Amino acid sequence: ASAQAAAPAWRALPGAARGEVLRKAARLLEARAGEIAETMTREMGKTLPEARGEVMRGVAILHYYAAEGMHATGEHLPSSDGRSLLYTRKKPLGTVALITPWNFPVAIPLWKLAPALVYGNTAVLKPASNASVTAALVVETLVEAGMPAGVVNLVHGPGGELGAALLGHPAIEGVSFTGSNAVGRTIGELAARRGIKCQLEMGGKNAVVVLADANLDKAADAVVSGAMKSTGQKCTATSKVIVERGVKARFTELLLERLAAITPGDGLAEGTYFGPLATARQRDTVLAAVKQGQAEGARLLLGGGVPEEEALRGGHFVQPALFDGVTPQMQLATEEIFGPVLGIMEADDLTEAVALANGTAYGLSAAIFTSSLESAMAFVEGAEAGMIKVNAETAGVEYHAPFGGLKASSSHSREQGRAAMDFFTHTQTISISV
Ligand code: NAD
Repeated sequence: ASAQAAAPAWRALPGAARGEVLRKAARLLEARAGEIAETMTREMGKTLPEARGEVMRGVAILHYYAAEGMHATGEHLPSSDGRSLLYTRKKPLGTVALITPWNFPVAIPLWKLAPALVYGNTAVLKPASNASVTAALVVETLVEAGMPAGVVNLVHGPGGELGAALLGHPAIEGVSFTGSNAVGRTIGELAARRGIKCQLEMGGKNAVVVLADANLDKAADAVVSGAMKSTGQKCTATSKVIVERGVKARFTELLLERLAAITPGDGLAEGTYFGPLATARQRDTVLAAVKQGQAEGARLLLGGGVPEEEALRGGHFVQPALFDGVTPQMQLATEEIFGPVLGIMEADDLTEAVALANGTAYGLSAAIFTSSLESAMAFVEGAEAGMIKVNAETAGVEYHAPFGGLKASSSHSREQGRAAMDFFTHTQTISISV
């Protein structure tokens, strides 16, 4: 109700004025980057350098959308009678609900809030419970930047209860959700019943293909980074690597060397590669996936258990795990695990590798390592993913480029960049004749 009451005045402001508040928020967020990054590390476990990088990503997102307040939002078309003025304009949805996960507790709320606000909507943010303090600090910067009362609202609590209450409220005209497929499906059903706009960005099972002509050292660096940074808790994390048969033994050695050097630890301590899993439940899910992988016949080459050290045993730590002998039907080839677990598959050629990469219901991100332009282009053509990388890791998104998945990873709209405007506005077509 508070967001609904604030909507008319906020919508009536020029885009430049709305953008100015975001610009001030960017400066405030940057000034508090150290404090917010530390809160994030304490709250959900990622390392301090990664947390700081994420806060700075949030600053960039705010600057980007601040400028959007000045950019064109419609198009001018030739009319069939040659005299009328025919054009489109973008109208904000009104009040939107934004439901976010814990793994990027600054960047994801901001890549939804900033476009929602600059295009003239008011918002209710419902962050994940175990990232709620970080989210509160983000909202605080928006309020301190001069956001009028009611434009941004923050609600905390269990998703099941709050989700139903939010989506059932007549003021909510759109919902943008990032999280798991199970919850996304429920939200999609509720939104369809109400006939409101809905955007879902969900899980991934992201593959890297390594061909025999690739720079293997570069590929191994990228696979380990893509699989293990943030303790594997990225929707775009690499979770299976498909290697051309002739180089598989060598590539496996390169992975093992790199993975053996990774030790879990306190995210605040200098030099820690990755911190704990975000929750006890997440740790248990990962440990269960490792057991399941072994039960299905994959060979565990390394890690996958709780570290021995006294200091780490009581936490939510898991050692990086590498499996070999992963086959298409195994859970390790098809399901998102959301932890530091990587499976190796083997392929005779590019055609088989593409089929193995696509062998999952998800379609978020995929990558290939090769020195052949022809193979790279064939992979781009064949990979069923919303984001495709050549000679780079699967994780990592550009805030000014469209982001989202294919298949079960998404409801098929796009976030970030100018693509966000399509979701957070309605298009109206106007014809003016004299
Ligand atoms: P989750 O689905 O458990 O929770 C996400 C949010 O939904 C939380 O705020 C939660 O409280 C809320 N929620 C839970 N039940 C709800 C309900 N019934 N109605 C409304 N809201 C409800 O996900 P998570 O564990 O926080 O995050 C991990 C998942 O997020 C992974 O599957 C990951 O792949 C996905 N993810 C996707 C992207 C992407 O852009 N595609 C980015 C990051 C994370």
